[in-house]
Amino acid sequence: MSARKRPWAEPFKIKVVESLSMLDRPGRAAALEQAGFNTFLLRSDDVYIDLLTDSGTNAMSDRQWAALMIGDEAYAGSRSFFHLQDAVREIYGYKHLIPTHQGRAAEHILSQLLIKPGDIIPGNMYFTTTRLHQELAGASFVDVIIDEANDPQNEHPFKGNVDLDKLQAVIDNFGAHRIPYICIATAVNMCGGQPLSLQNLKAVSALARRQGIRIVHDATRCVENAYMIHNNEPGYADRSIAEIVREICDLTDMCTMSSKKDNLVNIGGFLAANDDEFAEQARNMVVVYEGLHTYGGLAGRDMEAMAVGIRECVDLEHIKARVGQVYYLGRLLEEAGIPIVKPIGTHGVFLDAKRFVGHLSPEVFPAQALAAEIYLDSGVRTMERGIVSAGRDPKSGRNYGSELELVRMTIPRRVYTQAHMDVVAESVIEVYDHRRWITGLEMTFEPKFLRFFQARFRPLATTPVAQLTSTDAQGATASSGARHRRPT
Ligand SMILES: *Cc1c(COP(=O)(O)O)cnc(C)c1O
Repeated sequence: MSARKRPWAEPFKIKVVESLSMLDRPGRAAALEQAGFNTFLLRSDDVYIDLLTDSGTNAMSDRQWAALMIGDEAYAGSRSFFHLQDAVREIYGYKHLIPTHQGRAAEHILSQLLIKPGDIIPGNMYFTTTRLHQELAGASFVDVIIDEANDPQNEHPFKGNVDLDKLQAVIDNFGAHRIPYICIATAVNMCGGQPLSLQNLKAVSALARRQGIRIVHDATRCVENAYMIHNNEPGYADRSIAEIVREICDLTDMCTMSSKKDNLVNIGGFLAANDDEFAEQARNMVVVYEGLHTYGGLAGRDMEAMAVGIRECVDLEHIKARVGQVYYLGRLLEEAGIPIVKPIGTHGVFLDAKRFVGHLSPEVFPAQALAAEIYLDSGVRTMERGIVSAGRDPKSGRNYGSELELVRMTIPRRVYTQAHMDVVAESVIEVYDHRRWITGLEMTFEPKFLRFFQARFRPLATTPVAQLTSTDAQGATASSGARHRRPT
C-alpha cells in the first residue's frame, strides 16, 4: 500500500459567518494615509484579512457561545467565577485565581505588589506591556534569553530558552535581594513565537530555588509552547498537551495570563499564584483597579466562556491545527524565498524586514514601512515588531535598540481558512517582487507610552531614486530617503 499523503482540512465546520470587505487600491491608499501609515490606526472595515494580532480575535466555539448564556452575573460570589477557578486549577494548576479584564491588568497588579524601585527583572526577552509595568513600578528589565533568539536565521528549536550564564551573571551583579522574580514567557512573542524547552525551564527553576527567587510565568501562550515541546523535545511525544502545560506551570510560582490568546476568548485574563499571602494582597488590589475579586473586570458570561476555552485549548487536534496553519503560511513563504524568522513561530509568521527591505536603514522604520506596503498591496493587515515597538529607555530617552526588525503576521485562532493563507502568501510574494520601490517613513507623532499603538508616520519625501539595480536588495547600502515610484 502506498503511503499517499492525504490533504489536510480544518478540524471544524463553520456555523456562523462574517462577510469580508475589500477596498480597491485607491481606497486602501486613502485609508493608509488617514491612519498615518500605522496599521494599528486603520479601521477594521478597511481591512480584508486581519493578521494584526491573535489577541482577542479568536473565534469561539458553539460550546463557548452556549456557556455565555449560563453566565452568573452576581456581583459577588458568582458561580461563573468558581467554574473558571476549577478550569484554571485543573489545567494550569495554580491554587489561587484572581480574574482580570486582560493580561496587562494582571501584570499591573503583580508588578505593583512585587517590585520595589531599583529592582531588576531578568526575563527571556521583553514583552511591551510586561516591561512597561515593571518599569512603572520602578524596576529595570534585563534580557537573559539565549543569543540565538536574536538571529532570525538560526534554527534552534527552543529559541525562547534562558541563557543560564546570563541569568547567573545578573544575580552575581545585582544580588538576589534586588531580583523579586524572574519573568519567564512561554512561546516568546517578541522573537517570533519561539518556545522554551522543559529541560531549560527545569534548570532555571533549580537556579531560582537555590537563590530564593520566584519565577513569574507569562502563560499567555503556554499551550502553544507545550505543543512544540510535544513535537520536538525528547521524551515528550507521548505526553498530552495538558500534562506538559501542567509540568511547565508546576516549575513556576505564579502566572499572568492574557486569555485573549491561548484561551480562545475575546476578552479576559487572570493572575494565578500558589502563595497564599501574595494572593490575599492581589485580591485586595484587584478591587481597587478591576472589580471585586470574584469577577475582576469581567462579566460572569466572560468567565464562563473562558472556562470552556481553557479546556478546549489543550485539545491536541485544536492546537495541531492552530500551529499547523501558521506553519502552512510560513512554508509557502519559505518556498518562495521570502526572508522569514526561523523556525516558524507558533502564533504567526514574522518577516525579517532587515533582509526584506535591506535598502532601508533602521532610522526610516523598515518594518513599519513594509507593513504599510503589504496593506496597500492587498488589504492584509500586519504589524511592526522592531524599533517602533521597542520604544525608548525612560531614563535616557534614547530609542531602545532592536536587533530584530520584523513584520508580524499573526493568525487569529479558528478564524481564517487555508485559502486565506494562500491569498496572504501571494500578496507578500508580490510585495517582495517590487520591494526596491518601498520607501522609508518618518515619525510625525510619538505617544509617550507604547508608541507603536498610536504613532503616526509619513513617507519620506521624493529624492532621486537610489542606485538599486539588483533585484536583490540584500546588501544594498543606499540609506533610504528615496521615494521610489512603483511602476504601474
Ligand atoms: C498579549 C500579551 C500580554 C498582555 O495581555 P493583554 O491581554 O493584551 O493585556 C502579555 N504578555 C504576552 C506574552 C502577550 O502576548
